Amino acid sequence: MPLTGKRLERPGRPGLLAATYLPSILKGMWITLRHIFRPKVTLQYPEETWTLPENYRGLPALVRDDEGRVKCVACFLCEYVCPPKAIRIEAQEIETGVEKGPKIFDINMLRCIMCGYCEEVCPEQAIFLTPEYRTVGLSREEMIFPKERLLEMGGVRKDPIKKWSRLTGEAAEPRPVGAAAGAGRR
Ligand code: SF4
Ligand code: SF4
Repeated sequence: MPLTGKRLERPGRPGLLAATYLPSILKGMWITLRHIFRPKVTLQYPEETWTLPENYRGLPALVRDDEGRVKCVACFLCEYVCPPKAIRIEAQEIETGVEKGPKIFDINMLRCIMCGYCEEVCPEQAIFLTPEYRTVGLSREEMIFPKERLLEMGGVRKDPIKKWSRLTGEAAEPRPVGAAAGAGRR
């Protein structure tokens, strides 16, 4: 079978001027010169930090409800869905007897790709992506964030559903954050 296709011509030999590389050097210097007079985009990190857009999604964190209770019920959905397998959960029974909670909840931030799948899949709105993007540590162990650190990062999110009040038959009166009601979920 005859070969088909377009015949390619070899490029011609460079002229005398091109052989000196002068046109290429001058072209490169012209690009550099133009950039000298343009506004600078380099940030002097860490003295200067990036102004994040409002919808920026950084490191994931766990949250408490407005009564100080850990919202996670250790359903393992986020661990299952996490593409790089960055989440490790161990469940435990909690005092109320109607749900379980996380005994261990670790996220390996070296693995996390901030994809947001954990936030998407969580049925309890217990995990959110924060604007924090700095993943700095001196060891690999330090980069595995435990539950306490994740809760500190996430803080409190208002819980309009008040599922716990319904499940436990408690009055929906607000209790102080960190009161005994949340102790079983820590
Ligand atoms: S943001 Fe993505 S990669 Fe990071 S813990 Fe959640 S699911 Fe895993
Ligand atoms: S954070 Fe949400 S999805 Fe992950 S285990 Fe807890 S309740 Fe389930």
